[in-house]
Amino acid sequence: MVALNQQPMAACPNCRQPVPFQPQQVFDVSLNPAIKDYFLSGQANLLQCPSCGFAGTIGTPIIYHDPEKELFLTHVPVELNLPREEKERVLGALTQAIMRNIPQEGMKAYLFQPTEMLTMKSMIEKVLGADGITPEMIASQQAKMNLVGQLLQAEEDTLDFLIQDNQKLIDEEFFGLFSQLIQNIAMSGDEEIMTRIGVLNDKLIAQTDAGRKIGDQQATLEKAAADLEQHGEKLDRKKFLKLLVNSESDDYTSALISLARPLADYEMFMLLTERIQAASGEKKAKLEHIRDMVMTITQEMDAAAQARGEAMVSLLQMLLQADDLEAAITQNLQYFNDDFMAVLGQNLAAANENGQTELAEKLRTVGETLMRVVQQGMPPEIQFVNELLSQESPEEAQGIIRRRISEFPAEMPQIMDQIADSLDAQGQSEQAAKLRDYKEFAEKEIMMAKWR
Ligand SMILES: [Zn+2]
Repeated sequence: MVALNQQPMAACPNCRQPVPFQPQQVFDVSLNPAIKDYFLSGQANLLQCPSCGFAGTIGTPIIYHDPEKELFLTHVPVELNLPREEKERVLGALTQAIMRNIPQEGMKAYLFQPTEMLTMKSMIEKVLGADGITPEMIASQQAKMNLVGQLLQAEEDTLDFLIQDNQKLIDEEFFGLFSQLIQNIAMSGDEEIMTRIGVLNDKLIAQTDAGRKIGDQQATLEKAAADLEQHGEKLDRKKFLKLLVNSESDDYTSALISLARPLADYEMFMLLTERIQAASGEKKAKLEHIRDMVMTITQEMDAAAQARGEAMVSLLQMLLQADDLEAAITQNLQYFNDDFMAVLGQNLAAANENGQTELAEKLRTVGETLMRVVQQGMPPEIQFVNELLSQESPEEAQGIIRRRISEFPAEMPQIMDQIADSLDAQGQSEQAAKLRDYKEFAEKEIMMAKWR
């Protein structure tokens, strides 16, 4: 197949040094739904040169297939300067790579004529266009991202002015982008920037229409949570129903249902129906409206949960079939969450139970590789703590501390303390206690090192 069997090296376009590089040419959404985001992210075929620091995309022939959207696109970069025959041979091989995986009954007319895209940009626009996303929408999203960046860098006394000046850009979508960014930054644990973001967030909520709306929804959600919590352990269907029936806004009704989904079951639904039958006039209409909302919201929540589960199953299947497991995990890193771990655990338990030793072994390898890749992406301090906590005995952990504590900044013991606190907060008090012991040992080691 094209280029795939060759030695995976490429010359750095800047300094011409050979760099390990595996071109990715086949993007088949039917085999791996997550590859679509990867393709759109611009991370595919990115070469990073360790010699000169160059980072950029390497042009390579590409084929993209999405059966649901009936997209079958090819792109051969002009700069490759391929003679016509060679180009046809390359495209033929790529088309074959896709066609091999299509069952007879999946053959459709669009598959017989792939659309050739002249640039990567037009190819990406075509894929987004199939989702109803226009170049104008992309430009507007970019402008919002730029504004977020500008706001984060601005001096505090210019924030009011900047917000006032950009009211039009600060809409629901803006807040969506902003909260994604906050989540990413929160993971980095940089407290100074988190404080700045807090100030900015308060201003955005207070000074814009979209912000005030979000602020109201947030307050409604908090009120609903407080009203439910007030009943504590005694919260049952009847008390839940009473809160629902007295709801004064759709936002509040919807907050109650999403917070206490398990109580909104068939039995509660019957209780509500009894109330409706006994009521009349305006009261009846209000109760019927609430019942409609219960129906719609629970159905939406269940469908979303099911879709998440299915996505996790297909992600797992893709990993089990991957030739390069580590690469497949790295490309899909943003999708691994507790849902995925649950699906992995269920499959492993089932494989063990059914005596499918080979499958069980494969699933374990997926779990272990995933842990390793996730670890590699974490700050070194966290990796270090994880390594300590995964040791079988305190002596082994102490040995590691003795050998490696000097690699870390002087405040490492405080960092260990903070991590222990957050372990406590997650209910992992045993791990937290272990870590505090290691922290004391680390402090002693640091003291001793000064005398050596
Ligand atoms: Zn280079």
